[in-house]
Amino acid sequence: MRQLLIHGLEAESIQLIQSLLGDSLTVRSVERQELEAAFAGDDPLALAQEEEAIASSIRERAERFDAIFGQAPIGITISHGLSPGNTVIDEILTVNPRFEEIVGYSKEQLLRLGWSGITHPEDLEREREPFRRLLAGEIGSYTLEKRYVRPDGSTVWAEIVVAPINVGGDDFYNHICLVQDISERKMIERSLKESERSKGVLLSHLPGMAYRCKNDADWTMLYISPGCERLTGYTVESLLNNRELSFNEIVAPSHTAQVHREWQEAIAGGRSYSGEYEIITKDGERKWVWELGQGIVNEDGKVEELEGLILSINYRKHVEAELRYHSQHDLATGLYNRRYLEELLKNQGTGRGREQAALVAVNLSNLHSSAMTYGFLYSQEILKNVAQQLTMLCKPSYTLSVIHEYQFVFFIQGYAGKGELKSLANTISEELSTFLAMEGIGWGIGILEIGQRGGDAQDLIRKLLVVSEQALQRWGSNSPYLFFDEQMETQLYREEQITSELSAIASGEGNGRLYLLYQPIITIADGAVAGFEALVRLDIPTLGTISPLEFIPMAEKTKLIIPLGESIIIEALRFLDTLNKQGYDNLTVSINISALQLLKQGFSPNILRTIRAMGVDAENICLEITESIFATNYQEINRILKPLRNAGIKIAIDDFGTGYSSLARERELEVDYLKIDKFFVDKLARISEGHSITSDIISMAHKLGHCTIAEGVEEERQLHYLKKYGCDMLQGYLFAKPLSEEHALGFLASHSHSEVEQLLGDGEV
Ligand code: C2E
Ligand code: CA
Ligand code: CA
Repeated sequence: MRQLLIHGLEAESIQLIQSLLGDSLTVRSVERQELEAAFAGDDPLALAQEEEAIASSIRERAERFDAIFGQAPIGITISHGLSPGNTVIDEILTVNPRFEEIVGYSKEQLLRLGWSGITHPEDLEREREPFRRLLAGEIGSYTLEKRYVRPDGSTVWAEIVVAPINVGGDDFYNHICLVQDISERKMIERSLKESERSKGVLLSHLPGMAYRCKNDADWTMLYISPGCERLTGYTVESLLNNRELSFNEIVAPSHTAQVHREWQEAIAGGRSYSGEYEIITKDGERKWVWELGQGIVNEDGKVEELEGLILSINYRKHVEAELRYHSQHDLATGLYNRRYLEELLKNQGTGRGREQAALVAVNLSNLHSSAMTYGFLYSQEILKNVAQQLTMLCKPSYTLSVIHEYQFVFFIQGYAGKGELKSLANTISEELSTFLAMEGIGWGIGILEIGQRGGDAQDLIRKLLVVSEQALQRWGSNSPYLFFDEQMETQLYREEQITSELSAIASGEGNGRLYLLYQPIITIADGAVAGFEALVRLDIPTLGTISPLEFIPMAEKTKLIIPLGESIIIEALRFLDTLNKQGYDNLTVSINISALQLLKQGFSPNILRTIRAMGVDAENICLEITESIFATNYQEINRILKPLRNAGIKIAIDDFGTGYSSLARERELEVDYLKIDKFFVDKLARISEGHSITSDIISMAHKLGHCTIAEGVEEERQLHYLKKYGCDMLQGYLFAKPLSEEHALGFLASHSHSEVEQLLGDGEV
C-alpha cells in the first residue's frame, strides 16, 4: 500500500488528510529522521520537488476543506464510534464552528463530553437503536430529530444525518454527523400542534358540534366534530353522508320548515345564519340548540356547502322557561298571574283573526278573615281548591289566571254569545257552592265583554274589578253573576274623580272641600243636648256634595283615610275647643274612626298626643267604631282601646246589630256606648212592639253596663218606644239633621228643654 508520510502535523489534521485522500493512500505522521530515512538514496532535488508538489496539493485541498468545514452553514462533527476491541465508545474527534454555535459548547469541551453527553436523555434513548444498526452495518445512515442540551440547560432541536466515514486506517469506526438547527421549525410545529390541539380541545369540549354540510334538503354532513354524540346521541359516523340518518331528521319536525326558511333567507341575503330550534336526540329527548353558520361560496358564486356550530342551549332555555314561568304564574295556585293576563289583553286586539273576547272574574269574600281565624295555610288550601275546580271548567279557548289574592279571571276568546258566558257563570257558581258556602265564603262573578279590539289592559282589569266587587256584594241574590254595563262605567268615572279629589285634599290641596257637620245627640231623660257626632262631607264642584257613605269606602280602599282621618280628628277637636270656649263644658264630641285608622300602628298614642296638644279634655271625646271591626280580633281591639279608655275617652260601637259580632260577644267588648243601628230604629215605626228585639238589645246593653244611643230617629213613635224601654240617648232628624258648626252653636243657644220635653212627654206608645 502506498503511504504518505507526513511530519509536523497534528494527528487530527492527518486524519483529515486521510479522509480527503480516501483509501488510495495511507497517511502517517512520522518523525523527521524516519522521513529522511525513507527518502535516503533518492534524488534529493527530485524528491524535494515531488514532496513540494504533493504538499502543496495537500495544502490546497486542506485549505479548501478547512474553508468548507469552517464556513459550512450546518454543524459537522466527526466522531469515533467503535474502539478497536469493537466496544462502543463515544468520542468526538472534531467539530466545526457552526456545531459549537448550535450546541453552545467549545470544541475543547465537546471533545471531552462526547455527543451522547450533550444529547437530551430522551432522544439518546431513541438514537441508540439506529446507531446500533449503523454500527452493525445494517443501515448506511440514519436521520433523526433530536435535542441537544446546551450549557445553560436549554435545549436545541436539531435534525442530524449520521453516516459512517472512513478517515484513517486504524480500527476505529468513525462517523460523520451533519447537524441542522431546526428549533425554529420545531417551534412553529409545536405552536401549530398546540393550536391544533386547542382547537381539538375546544371542539371536543364544545357543548355541541361543529359541522360542514352540503346545502341540500338533508343537510348532508361532510364533517362533524366529536361533540355530535353528546349533543344528539348519534355517532359522527352515523350522520356523515347520511349513513344512518340525515341531520334534517334530527331537527324537531315542528321547527324544520322554519330552520330551512331562515337558512335560505340568510344565504340569499349573504348573511350568516343564527337560529334557535329544537332537535330530537337518539333517546327521543327534545333539546334546544343554537346554530350559528354560514354558506361557503364556490368559484361560481354558489353556496354548495354550509359550515357552522350547533350548541346546546337547553340549560339556558330551561332557566328561561323557569323564569318565564315564575313571571307568568301565581306560585300558590300554579295559575297564570296578573302580568300574564295583561300581556294577553295587550295582544288581544293585534292578533290575526280577531275574535270576540270576554273576561269573567270570580271574587271570593271573607277569605281574609278565615285566614285570620284559621291561619294562612287554611286559606291557601281553599284557594288551591277553587283553582282546581275552576281549572276543570276551562276549555282550550279559556285562560284562567289569578290576578289578585282572591280574584280569579277567565280570559275567553271566541265565545258563542252572552249565553255561553252566563252558563259558565252558573256552572262556576254551582261548583263553588258545594264547598265554599260551607266555609262561609261568598263569591261574586263579574263579566266584562271586551269585543274584538280589547282596550287598555289596566282599564279592562279595573272595570272587571268593579263589576265583580259589585257581584260579590250581591252574593246570595238570585243571579250569581253581573255584566259590566254603561252605568258602571259612569260609576267608575265618578269614583276616579272622587279618589283624585281625596288624594288632592290629603296632600293639602282642595281647601275647604272636606268639612264636618255636627249632629246633636239628646239625652232622653231630660231632653238635654249630650253632645254632637261629627259627620264628614265632601264637596266637589262638578259632582256636588258627596255622602261619606260613598267616599269613605273609597278613602279606605286607597288608604287615604289615614291622612284624611287625622285631619278630621283635629277638626272635630277644634270644634270641641270652640264649644268649651263658648261655655259648654259637658258636651261630648263623637268622632267616627274607621278600622284602618284604628289598626294603624301608633293610633292611640297619636290621638292622645293630639288631645294634649289641643288642650281639650279627653272625657269629652267619644270614638265611634263599627262593630264589624271586633270580628277580626276583639282582644287586639281591646288592647288598642285600653289606653284611650284609661285616659277618659269614651268608646261607642257604631251600627250595633248589623255587624258580625253577636250579642253573646258583646260582653267581651270593653266599650261605653252601643249605638243601635237605624235598621232597628226603622223597624220600630213599622212592626208591632211585641215583635221588636230593640228592647232586648237595650236591656242586654244595660246589663253589661253600656249606655245606649238610638240612631236615625225620625218619628215620635220611635221616640216613645225608646223612652219606654229605657234607651239613654237619641240622634235623628226628629231633633236635628247634621248641622254646620255655626248652626250647631245656634241649635245649642236656642235649644229649649221644654221643646224636647214636650216631644218626649207627648202621647204614650
Ligand atoms: P253613622 O256613623 O251611622 O252616621 C249616622 C248617619 O245617619 C249619618 O249619615 C247621618 O247623617 C245619618 N242620620 C242621622 N239621623 C238620621 C235620620 O233621622 N234619618 C236618616 N235617614 N239618616 C240619619 P252620614 O253623615 O251620611 O254618614 C254616613 C256614614 O259615614 C256614617 O254612619 C259613618 O259610618 C260614616 N262617616 C261619617 N263621617 C265620618 C268620618 O268622619 N269618619 C269616618 N271614618 N266615617 C264617617
Ligand atoms: Ca257614627
Ligand atoms: Ca250608624
